[in-house]
Amino acid sequence: MERAKTLPGRRRILKGAALAAVPYVLLPDARADAGPRTVDYPLAEWQPATPANRTAANRPTTHPVDRVVIHVTQTLCAKALTVFQNPRKKVSAHYVVRSVDGHVAQCVRESDIAWHAGNWDYNTRSIGIEHEGWVDRPAYFTAALYEGSARLTASVCDRFGIPRDRAHIIGHYEVPGTDHTDPGPNWDWGRYMRLVGRA
Ligand SMILES: [Zn+2]
Repeated sequence: MERAKTLPGRRRILKGAALAAVPYVLLPDARADAGPRTVDYPLAEWQPATPANRTAANRPTTHPVDRVVIHVTQTLCAKALTVFQNPRKKVSAHYVVRSVDGHVAQCVRESDIAWHAGNWDYNTRSIGIEHEGWVDRPAYFTAALYEGSARLTASVCDRFGIPRDRAHIIGHYEVPGTDHTDPGPNWDWGRYMRLVGRA
């Protein structure tokens, strides 16, 4: 990690001390079976979709990830989580953002393929984010929802090297072949992209 020519010094010693101080329980091997699975986004709560509603993968090794797809649930947040847990529904998203407070639930690991875009190519290459609300009920698009989602999208973009622009952060309606209209005309893209840019 450090250059070969760097002499051992106070800085290196401090780094060693800091690593030694990391609690054992936070190391990956120690927590392999220790309850809730680790989330990819630190602020998310793990609310897993059934494995029947996603495709296991090892992205970005198996499939490049270069898009974030923005959705609206057309149902309540809690109901969307239940749908993702129902193997008969054949649908999932990586994340669901709650309207009232911007709380983020993660349902599918980012390395796996969620079934949200209705287009296999776009499913393989994207992270799907659902937002609690309805396309024709703008009151659900709260400041907390925009801000919570923007922080999440900015984090996804940083970790996968996705540009924070409208060519790469798209609505479901922009997925080729879709008949979905979400997030709809009430979604404030200008506001959202400014928040993503600042996050
Ligand atoms: Zn959608």
